[in-house]
Amino acid sequence: MFNKLSQFFHFFGRKSASVSVVANQTVNPEKLAVARRILLKMQKQLPDYIAKGSGPFLAALYDEKGNLIAKEANHVVTDNCSHNHAEMNVIRAAEKKLNTYDLSSYNLRLYVTAEPCLMCLGGIMWSGIKEVYYGVPSQSVEKITGFDEGFKPDWLDEFKQRGIVVYGNIEIAAGEEVLQNYVKGKHTIYRPQRK
Ligand SMILES: [Zn+2]
Repeated sequence: MFNKLSQFFHFFGRKSASVSVVANQTVNPEKLAVARRILLKMQKQLPDYIAKGSGPFLAALYDEKGNLIAKEANHVVTDNCSHNHAEMNVIRAAEKKLNTYDLSSYNLRLYVTAEPCLMCLGGIMWSGIKEVYYGVPSQSVEKITGFDEGFKPDWLDEFKQRGIVVYGNIEIAAGEEVLQNYVKGKHTIYRPQRK
């Protein structure tokens, strides 16, 4: 009984988080269901990447048939490179694998465990990625971790104007838990000194 009850609340918690999903076009329930499944799996995998020194973000690119093209975590600390965010790494890996600087003909879908930062929005825009699905919103990332995600004026609309589909705030609770554990584990909050 206890098990069933806790499952119910677990489900209820997930359900309530789904209320805040954002999108820059009418939500396709099938695409959202796929994104929920992939992002939940990625949030479960992320602690293993963190244990090996990665930052608390994971990004994956799939083609429209559901084939995984590339998956990369954030390597800012391990690579000593301030722009090696998960999104930048996965774009680089996919372009190398497919031998192109323009991914548009592959109709790729990016799944990323948190909202892309200011830099990664640029990287996504110039890569030719067609669809973006993200987990935890930047506001939450900044509140939990202290990372600076940058200034992003109405990027969902800017992406819409460029034909890039965006769904966000997907499975937030699972993503926030990973970030909270990253902070609790006293992992590096990598950012430039402002003083
Ligand atoms: Zn970024």
